[in-house]
Amino acid sequence: MTQLVCACCAATMQAIGNFGQYGHFRCDSCGYEVFKSSNVTQSTDYEGDCDYLDDLELFPATGDRIQWHHQRALDFIAERVPAGGMTLDVGCFDGFFVRHLCDRLFDAYGVDFNRTALKWGIDRFGLNGRISNRPVADLLAEDRRFDVVTLFEVIEHLDDFDPVLRDCVALLKPGGYLVISAPNNEMSWRPPLDFPPHHLSRFSPVALRNMALRLGLDPVVSKEQCSLFDLVRNYTGVLFRRSDSASMRGGEFRNRGIVDPLRRIANRSKWVVYSVLWPIDKLLQAAGFRYIGQLMIARKIGR
Ligand SMILES: [Zn+2]
Repeated sequence: MTQLVCACCAATMQAIGNFGQYGHFRCDSCGYEVFKSSNVTQSTDYEGDCDYLDDLELFPATGDRIQWHHQRALDFIAERVPAGGMTLDVGCFDGFFVRHLCDRLFDAYGVDFNRTALKWGIDRFGLNGRISNRPVADLLAEDRRFDVVTLFEVIEHLDDFDPVLRDCVALLKPGGYLVISAPNNEMSWRPPLDFPPHHLSRFSPVALRNMALRLGLDPVVSKEQCSLFDLVRNYTGVLFRRSDSASMRGGEFRNRGIVDPLRRIANRSKWVVYSVLWPIDKLLQAAGFRYIGQLMIARKIGR
């Protein structure tokens, strides 16, 4: 039987089954899971994913894209990093988070391999010279080092996240922060999107903290999202998704004439609904409910 070593805590992983052509492995020590296949997902597969690109026109304002994990990270950065600090968003899509940080007077940059999204962000958000499709490894060859490197909903898509994260850590100044968000593997309901080829890894909060320690970092923030609203929203969304699609996103939306206005309304009202449901979410959290996000921030040790 094939054996894998956990990329978060170095324990031996157990083979627990198959999903299509993928072998499914789990680390019982930290709750990390991975799907492995000889047919590795390519970055160009994401470039052609029209479902992600639909978001560009559906949510044209940068504020529309800010989700729970982005907001938590923005609050942290504003509190801990002096204005003018240099930031890098890896997997920046059209650069909406970069734009937000620039508006808050940070010296913000981003990289992504989706050239369509990058062009949109350069044209619409005025990010020429700030976002590009350069590989992270290329940035290392330059002298620029960053106060913050963010990866929002990136690592769960990668076949091998370890070398990417090691490059990200090398890009940090001593004392700089690595910010990572990923779906919480301890989620109370697992959407069909949380499978290959869309997601190749699953992380528990313990796994993310172990990963930070393995990278030589000091974990300083570990937050889990508990949102009844997002559970309902994603569960409803599945009813409108194709189940037979080969989309990287796990099923493109059908009935767009109905779905698009609903998605817009749900997205624009989310902060109000979060605050209304906050007491209920807190109670559910105490009872063990988790959905769907988590945020881990770790500091590079040194002065
Ligand atoms: Zn592990």
